[in-house]
Amino acid sequence: MNDTSKSEPPKRHHCGHQDIAGLMRTIFSAEDDDITCGECYDHIDEYVDMLRAGEDAATVLPKVKTHLAQCKCCEMEFKAFIAILEAEADRDRDTPVG
Ligand SMILES: [Zn+2]
Repeated sequence: MNDTSKSEPPKRHHCGHQDIAGLMRTIFSAEDDDITCGECYDHIDEYVDMLRAGEDAATVLPKVKTHLAQCKCCEMEFKAFIAILEAEADRDRDTPVG
């Protein structure tokens, strides 16, 4: 965990002006972490697969996690995905053997 520089607030000069470079970095790094709904959707199946496999999806695909936390429609998409997979798993379990 050494991303403290990222969350550091822009420095203030003695004159009261903000450090523009720091401010720009803050703005652009925030934008850099954003993905579109399309990009999120491209990775949702991967993300859900990893969760179900017990892997650390949030570490491998942090941008998807961030987007899901910010975007209601992608979050619903994500939950629907899980519901479908769980329904399939249930159906598999209910299938009588033999
Ligand atoms: Zn979205």
